[in-house]
Amino acid sequence: MHPRLAGDLAAFPALLESVRRLAVDVLDALDDRPAGRSPAPRPALPLPADGAGLAGALATFTDRWAPGFSGSAGPRYLGFVTGGATPAGLAGDWLTGVFDQNAGPGIGSSAGDLERETLGWLRELFGLPPGYGGTFVSGATMSNMVGLAIGREWLGERLGVDVSQQGAAALGETAVFSGAPHSSIYKALSMLGLGRGALRQLPLLPDREAVDVPALRAALADRAGRPAIVVANAGTVDTVDYDDLRAIAELRREYPFWLHVDAAFGAFAALSPAHAPLLDGLAEADSICVDLHKWLNVPYDSAVQFTRRTDLQLKVFSNAAAYLGPLTERPDFLHHTPENSRRLRALAAWFSLAAYGRDGHRDIVTRNIASAQRVGARLAELPGVRLLAPVRLNVVCLALPGDQAEAARAVAESGEAFVTPTVYAGTPALRLAFCNWRTSEADEDRIVAAVRRALP
Ligand SMILES: *Cc1c(COP(=O)(O)O)cnc(C)c1O
Repeated sequence: MHPRLAGDLAAFPALLESVRRLAVDVLDALDDRPAGRSPAPRPALPLPADGAGLAGALATFTDRWAPGFSGSAGPRYLGFVTGGATPAGLAGDWLTGVFDQNAGPGIGSSAGDLERETLGWLRELFGLPPGYGGTFVSGATMSNMVGLAIGREWLGERLGVDVSQQGAAALGETAVFSGAPHSSIYKALSMLGLGRGALRQLPLLPDREAVDVPALRAALADRAGRPAIVVANAGTVDTVDYDDLRAIAELRREYPFWLHVDAAFGAFAALSPAHAPLLDGLAEADSICVDLHKWLNVPYDSAVQFTRRTDLQLKVFSNAAAYLGPLTERPDFLHHTPENSRRLRALAAWFSLAAYGRDGHRDIVTRNIASAQRVGARLAELPGVRLLAPVRLNVVCLALPGDQAEAARAVAESGEAFVTPTVYAGTPALRLAFCNWRTSEADEDRIVAAVRRALP
């Protein structure tokens, strides 16, 4: 064994203790760490020939890299849709590396059953019936990609072609309808060989990001019986709007289409009694995308996909090889997802759900919604500030007087909060997305103050 490795092995417990100390220091100071930064680019150093051992690497990381990292795990980072990590979620993530299970093949470990148990809990959390199969993937982009891949296979089934054998070209012309799709839908269509151009964006309801259902009906009627894919949205990133999932699902009585629902963070409305009705009809979907590194507050690299057509999913993703063992009644996860070997990313979600249950996670969601509503109302009273949409859930979308990117920079430079710019209905805007389990009323005050100071 290389002497550096041998030394680290001998000192492993003490070294882990020093890593733990750094973690505790970072988390203790999270409240004061600047929420977001724009650090100067750092030149890369050459590959070390002789390494420094874990203690040396930790020292270098602590000095050279850690200070430039954002406080994105903290309570006032409101950029994009960014969750934090609950204590149990973080513990689960650490232990994922400790046990280092390969949750692709099922041979030799109970890790697959832990993933199945966790998927069952999530199904229940979102009010989905047991008929949905699911898997963990790395994020909502991959979840959308997997759902649309199954939809692509379904189009083949309807048209009498086998896409997994013949390729996407065998489908001929393909139509994917959506009102306000997330950018990852275009990316998924590109990856899947359907092409970004397959997406036909439909009219929205006035002053909304929800699709106009009669327009969808007309577009489907135009297909003259040719099957299509419909991507319905449950929680858009700018204004957290929801398509009428029930009305869209009803259209399947008349027209053949695969119904994929992108509920990346919107699915968590299920936990708020006042907002759960937004998801009425979700359980009619053929495939569903839910992100977990957003509102479940587990560390990055976690999302789930659900589908009713596990048979088609296996056609797309099965990965038969003698060394991986036979395809059984209950195929291993490597036959369900783009990956073969994969980390047991269910463990962080398992820990957080085991530790806090439905009620604990409901508390995160309802507190974040209340924060967004209060902050939205307070900011709307500042001179020249306009809310561009009602605060439907956990996102405030507003326009400040002056340049939005400059305002976002001014907020970031204060270190007090981090918000990201967008363009909503042609208007440059800022978004404040509340997604972190730590965010308190004291944080709301600091956020409002930071935005007020950024006004011209
Ligand atoms: C965040 C998000 C995605 C993409 O999720 P990643 O985890 O960043 O891949 C897709 N759809 C919606 C609605 C989202 O909010």
